[in-house]
Amino acid sequence: MGPLTGVTCTRFSLQAICKVLYGGLPLARARAHYDRKEQLIAAGICDDLRRVCLFCLLTRNICVMESEWHFIFHCPLYTDLRTGSLFRRRAAEVGSEHCSFPRPYSILFRTLPLCIKEPALANQLGSFIRLSLRVREGWLEEAVRGGLHIGPIVCNNAHVYCNTVEFANGVASSL
Ligand SMILES: [Zn+2]
Repeated sequence: MGPLTGVTCTRFSLQAICKVLYGGLPLARARAHYDRKEQLIAAGICDDLRRVCLFCLLTRNICVMESEWHFIFHCPLYTDLRTGSLFRRRAAEVGSEHCSFPRPYSILFRTLPLCIKEPALANQLGSFIRLSLRVREGWLEEAVRGGLHIGPIVCNNAHVYCNTVEFANGVASSL
């Protein structure tokens, strides 16, 4: 990468992109909901399943790792926040969350360099991340406070799926 002297995106946007690059967003892929570990275990969500997107598991019966690419491109919790040319351009490429190919993370890897080249796109991504993290925190707070209710069949199927290569690659599965 060349010098960053020409970068004109906001400081927050640059921070957000850096966090995506080094896995620093507070998502379950890396953090496994450690700050709510006890509540998850009480609901039967343990081991690798703690890396799941709780919103998709509890509201859609979909098992998918809460990765950066699921958070940015797929999770319906943030659909209304995906505005601007960044997401319009990517929409055709994103494809189904249930497909292994192209690899779900490949869209993210193609998007980040664009954001470095075009500050407006970096600002859109930064803004999305800032607002979505707030929505995520609010939803999680409410969901955990109300008790995580997950049926035994869904829970069992999710445990089986979370040990597969597809789950590790971020592919979604209906339970
Ligand atoms: Zn989700």
